[in-house]
Amino acid sequence: MSPWFGLALFLATIAAMEVFAWAMHRWVMHGPGWFLHESHHRARTGWFEWNDLYAVIFAIPSIVLLYGGVQAGWWPGFTWIGAGIAGYGAIYFGFHDVIVHQRVAHRYVPRSTYMKRIVQAHRLHHAVESKHGAVSFGFLWAPPAEELKRQLKVNAGLGRFRANAD
Ligand SMILES: [Zn+2]
Ligand SMILES: [Zn+2]
Repeated sequence: MSPWFGLALFLATIAAMEVFAWAMHRWVMHGPGWFLHESHHRARTGWFEWNDLYAVIFAIPSIVLLYGGVQAGWWPGFTWIGAGIAGYGAIYFGFHDVIVHQRVAHRYVPRSTYMKRIVQAHRLHHAVESKHGAVSFGFLWAPPAEELKRQLKVNAGLGRFRANAD
């Protein structure tokens, strides 16, 4: 397999992971998986939170694909896809856990338009502490803050009815 094709697979996997992460966050973590994700919408008391288990779960396919591609003689493309999942995990950790939530102390201040936008979008995701009504489920791509604030207002209006539904 040409390294260029491998690199293209790697980058395509990172892009696909953002879509996958959005869907998981929107429909699973703020759905049936809320019992683990809830810890991430509360103040953390120690080093870890139950939500961290999602990182462990999402690492499994990456480990399996890397092992299959490198050791078990599977199609070499799986190595690049496995590396792409791991790459997304690393970018996600750097953006979400380090830059936004500051689980590692740092003095980085977002300055570029893009970085300001995605950091603010994730802060707006945390404006809501409940399973329902949150906005901005992506991480590396986000709509403008004005759009998210508008959605938050709409959701807050609907909240009264949803609270009765479940
Ligand atoms: Zn969330
Ligand atoms: Zn967060």
